Amino acid sequence: QCITHCPVGALRERDDTGRLFQAMSDPDKVTVVQIAPAVRAAWGESLGLPPEKATVNRMAGVLRRLGFDYVFDTSFTADLTIMEEGTEFLHRYAAGDTRELPMFTSCCPGWVRYLKSHYPEWTDRLSTAKSPQQMFGAVVKSSFARRIGVEPSKIFSVSIMPCVAKKAECDLPTMSTDAGPDVDLVLTTREFVRLIRAEKLNPEDIPEEGFDSPMGVYSGAGVIFGATGGVMEAALRSAYFLHNGHNPKPEDFRAVRGDATGASGWTEAEFDLGGGAMVRTAVVSGLANTGRLLAELAAGRVHYDFVEVMACPGGCAGGGGQPIHTDDVERAAQRGKVLYNIDRIQTVRFSHENPEVNALYREELGEPGSEKAEALLHTDHHAWQMPAQR
Ligand code: SF4
Repeated sequence: QCITHCPVGALRERDDTGRLFQAMSDPDKVTVVQIAPAVRAAWGESLGLPPEKATVNRMAGVLRRLGFDYVFDTSFTADLTIMEEGTEFLHRYAAGDTRELPMFTSCCPGWVRYLKSHYPEWTDRLSTAKSPQQMFGAVVKSSFARRIGVEPSKIFSVSIMPCVAKKAECDLPTMSTDAGPDVDLVLTTREFVRLIRAEKLNPEDIPEEGFDSPMGVYSGAGVIFGATGGVMEAALRSAYFLHNGHNPKPEDFRAVRGDATGASGWTEAEFDLGGGAMVRTAVVSGLANTGRLLAELAAGRVHYDFVEVMACPGGCAGGGGQPIHTDDVERAAQRGKVLYNIDRIQTVRFSHENPEVNALYREELGEPGSEKAEALLHTDHHAWQMPAQR
């Protein structure tokens, strides 16, 4: 993990904490913050907080002390992403159109940019589902704004991400409406830690707190998004349900859990989704491994239906915005285990059982993949161009 490996080429991290203070001092602004799954596994490291104290609920308490009006968990929209992406995959798989298969996950902006630079002819293979960060921003400035009776343009939407590339994702022209960007500001885990220090907060003195509602409930499937293989596993759990009308065991797809060191290339596995629907999957992290996998796909030496790609070795757990340590200890795998342990003890482990996601469909969006869901939660990867290489 290294910011110099940042897939968007941001060799120096842009510090956005000043813009946050500016928004917070504006009495007209309502500040809303979301916390990405992988951040909870790392934020306590450079503060010397033991893992049992460095929980996401303590983060919620800290963020309220920092002055945020509403605090949410991006794992909610990770569940929403799964509903849209799982449905999209089943449609593509049933259609059997090889121009759209394998379907590639699209929640990692570093990977999306890599594909558009190196294999632009495969852009249609990317899922059109927006990333959880961007789905969250879109829902906050539409459904949530209506619910609290605030103009979307008055909401200042912030995300705490393990990722430097997310700063560029929220700036894409496809991620804005007339009310402005869906996500106004992205802070990395490191910037969040700097804020805590700047405000002289001692997280150990701050109690754990719950999230605001709605959008404050998440499943274990939403949390494992932060580890390599997690998006694929979560998607297969719900694709199985959508295909068969009943749940698999949550652990049935654990064979896709990627190699968090990124050293073994990629992980492949085949599953019977029911009725003879055999799905061939691959999970890869790190751009060197990704390059090798894409070369094999292009040469026709490997064949998959669904591929998860994360630009950082180990996925977002090892993301470029996470704390940096000077020792040689590999932390992505360790942080990934924290996320899988959270999943194991969650009451709800399937995205399609998230009650607040289901309420959003019932009250506003209709079905996954509906016209409304397409308009709010999907994007056109052709609608922006990669900047010319210098
Ligand atoms: Fe960002 Fe995660 Fe992709 Fe790394 S793997 S670039 S942290 S989204």
